[in-house]
Amino acid sequence: MAGEDLTSLTFAQLERWAATEGLPAFRGRQLFRWLHGRVERDFARMTDLSRELRDRLAGKYRLHLPEIVEQRRAADGTRKLRFRLADGLEVEGVYMPEQRRRTLCVSTQVGCAMGCAFCATGSMGLVRHLAAGEIAGQVEAVRRLLAAEGLERPVSNVVFMGMGEPLHNLEATLAAVEILLHPLGGGMSRRHLTVSTAGLVPAMKKFVERVPAKLAVSLNAADDEVRSRLMPINRRYPLERLLAACRELNLKHTDRITFEYVLLGGINDGDDDARRLVKLLSGLSCKVNLIPYNPLPDSSFRRPRQQRLQRFQQILLDKNLSVFVRRSRGAELAAACGQLVTTAGGGAGRRQS
Ligand code: SAH
Ligand code: SF4
Repeated sequence: MAGEDLTSLTFAQLERWAATEGLPAFRGRQLFRWLHGRVERDFARMTDLSRELRDRLAGKYRLHLPEIVEQRRAADGTRKLRFRLADGLEVEGVYMPEQRRRTLCVSTQVGCAMGCAFCATGSMGLVRHLAAGEIAGQVEAVRRLLAAEGLERPVSNVVFMGMGEPLHNLEATLAAVEILLHPLGGGMSRRHLTVSTAGLVPAMKKFVERVPAKLAVSLNAADDEVRSRLMPINRRYPLERLLAACRELNLKHTDRITFEYVLLGGINDGDDDARRLVKLLSGLSCKVNLIPYNPLPDSSFRRPRQQRLQRFQQILLDKNLSVFVRRSRGAELAAACGQLVTTAGGGAGRRQS
């Protein structure tokens, strides 16, 4: 008997689960703390539960933690991680330690249904959604690994920017955020957790209503013609609708929205593009992350020239936008943005273009 996936339940859901087991609510709270505060997956070691209860639960439930099956390290400390899930499928993550923060980028789906033209994950199609416990579990597995290496506060920041479109897997994403933010769970600060979306407008609205984490929107083009070509989702939620939603969110939240903009040489990196972008974002409290395209094998896209990148950035700076250029960490590992793709595991055949 497989039993319910207890690692995917939020604090409140575990309290309710306790009642269904004929247990007082505090048993649910204890279990939540073991699973997500202490990253324990063995009932036998949950010493404040009676032996009889531990045995009963162990007979009924399996507790999974994504297994780190491969780590590749770059000279700057970046690690590309491959996680194996309970069914053998795999996702990737990237760990980026810096002076003041240690950021982990996690996946929310195996593959992605959005099909963006410049993205390796997009070329896989959607294989399946991750459960909440599998999303938060990537953070927990890394916390456990690095704690064993002697690091204190091993993960300070988490970004949902790995494989998949988090808001296409909304309920699991919301539950994972709750688990990571809960003081008895991941205990993270809401300002240190960012979810990135290709711009699924209705789900964006639900997201900000239900969790206090930060939102990043992948814009990638400042006119509908180019954006629809790069990101098919733009046909459903074109720029006007997307930006209107962002303005609405802006009114409700003190946090600035981050806009990500992948610069593709000759496609969206011209002066006109920069000026259109300025216009699009006027009046919005936001910051812009420019991401020079990370080349994929066999792709016809190319990186922008350095001069172009600087000029593009300058046009935005001149209009007082906060603009950052994202350093391409992990590029030598093919671990940079948009380069995450898995091929092995579970026997599910996937294509890697
Ligand atoms: N699906 C979500 C989150 C994962 S993609 C989203 O699209 O926002 C994370 C970021 O990587 C996005 O901003 C995306 O535009 C960017 N990206 C994808 N492929 C890339 C590539 N080849 N080079 C640089 N950035 C890329
Ligand atoms: Fe999916 Fe994001 Fe890649 Fe687009 S950029 S295919 S939404 S992972």
